[in-house]
Amino acid sequence: MAVFGIGILPLFATVTVAFPKPGDRLPQVDRTWMSGAVSREVKSLKVQGKDVEIYRTGAWLAMVSVSGGENSIEIIADGATTNVSIKVQHGKIATAGDAPQAAGKQPVYKKLPYAADEAKKHPSGKTPGETTIAIDPGHGGEKDTGATSPHGHFEKDANLALAFEVRRALEALGYKVKMTRETDRPLVLTDRARIACGEDGADAFVSIHHNSTPYDRDPRLARYTSVYEWNAIGKALAEKISARVGAALEGDVENRGVLHANFAVTRNPEVPSCLVEADFLNTPEGEEAVWNGVRRRKIGEAIAAGIDEWCKGGAGSTGESS
Ligand SMILES: [Zn+2]
Repeated sequence: MAVFGIGILPLFATVTVAFPKPGDRLPQVDRTWMSGAVSREVKSLKVQGKDVEIYRTGAWLAMVSVSGGENSIEIIADGATTNVSIKVQHGKIATAGDAPQAAGKQPVYKKLPYAADEAKKHPSGKTPGETTIAIDPGHGGEKDTGATSPHGHFEKDANLALAFEVRRALEALGYKVKMTRETDRPLVLTDRARIACGEDGADAFVSIHHNSTPYDRDPRLARYTSVYEWNAIGKALAEKISARVGAALEGDVENRGVLHANFAVTRNPEVPSCLVEADFLNTPEGEEAVWNGVRRRKIGEAIAAGIDEWCKGGAGSTGESS
């Protein structure tokens, strides 16, 4: 966990900024959403002169106006002032988190070089003990942290924790499980699906992620669960997982169902693959939910139940013809 403290305030009150990190460079924007946390004693918070709501856990969100170059953002917690510097870089547009492709930008399809062109046989003829599922906890290592929550917790750790729950639930059902990583280590994106390809690979590949909103969008307006597919064999698997996760989170988080996206780990013609975005972690409520262990186990069991249903589904589970 990396929290960027920006000054010890009187009465031991601290205020932190998780996104953007102090000194971060942002692409060309005229406003951005900041997130962070304050210690529990703090009763009032102003960011750039505007009152900011402090949530139950001490997390906060603020929309700030910025211009090209250095911006000094003034944060006042219970009367004590501190400043954070954000650099805005003109002319370079980037996306944040795992948001689907930016509008108007055509995604480029690049086939995974090691994947065969023919889809593997559906595992309906096998027992769970003869069936292997590959689970891929997204991101990992020092540089690829994934999204950041208001208290500075990283998506890579939430993904690994949920992946362990999926593995536990699958093993309880009798399946064999392969993980792309079991520790906090970096992995090349296009190498991840390799674990599932070939005779000794796996019957299905499921990547586990948590979502976040782009830097310029109000994080409170988009929080949902979704599963991404790229082709018909992946879609059939995605649909089973999505239905189970949606049911497990009913009344908690909106279910946007199965969505189509060109992700490196899912564009696999050989192995049915999908990517689960379990929830959003960059709102105060989302952070609290994502780091709730009881809820995490429930989601892990739902993902495993969806995979199990797909495995037992037979020919009808292979989805629409492509
Ligand atoms: Zn991710």
